[in-house]
Amino acid sequence: MAHGHDNGHANDGGHAHHEPTGGDPLRKETFLEKLYLPEIGKGMFHTLKHMFKKSFTVDYDGTDRTNEKKNHIPRAGYRGEHYLKKDDAGHVKCVACFMCAAACPSECIHIEGAATPADWKDRERYPKRFEIDMLRCIYCGMCEEACPVDAIALSSTYNVVSTTREEKVYVRDRLLSDGDRYGLSLSRHHYRPDGVPGAAPAAKAHH
Ligand code: SF4
Ligand code: SF4
Repeated sequence: MAHGHDNGHANDGGHAHHEPTGGDPLRKETFLEKLYLPEIGKGMFHTLKHMFKKSFTVDYDGTDRTNEKKNHIPRAGYRGEHYLKKDDAGHVKCVACFMCAAACPSECIHIEGAATPADWKDRERYPKRFEIDMLRCIYCGMCEEACPVDAIALSSTYNVVSTTREEKVYVRDRLLSDGDRYGLSLSRHHYRPDGVPGAAPAAKAHH
């Protein structure tokens, strides 16, 4: 700490480089304070006291998405990892219109459209390639807002760990299977009637 140069107390003989707790900051430390042992004891006592208090933290292990004691449940409306939805036939719902990519302020959605297979009667195009670079994404939700067919959504999932940059580029099939996996977490919120397994009944879904 800086000792004042204008108060005549600047030179204390090289001692008292830290303030004794409370009281006059220029007071010299007592012998016991220099030993530090009582202070360490006080600190340990303080720690011990907290060991017997009620814990407010979550016993997090992330394995049980339905158990609030084991898994933090974000508030309704939280924007987490994306997923792509499927239609009733199990096909990707996306029609490769590029609206989400156009709306994305981070330019992190990359789509390659193609003509649908002959047996897909309900649309002409689908995304042959659909990728989101999650490292660029700012989780603004604009892609979800822009989609005219409700094919993309942000889930409440926040705890996906990756060890390489490449893993954070989510490809179409991963986004589709994430839709199946995240259905249950969405059902906890009752705010998005998205039709994925475990989703909330429509009556409870509007907030
Ligand atoms: S959440 Fe926002 S930044 Fe992320 S992909 Fe969607 S539009 Fe782009
Ligand atoms: S996700 Fe929606 S907005 Fe994006 S390309 Fe597919 S249909 Fe269009």
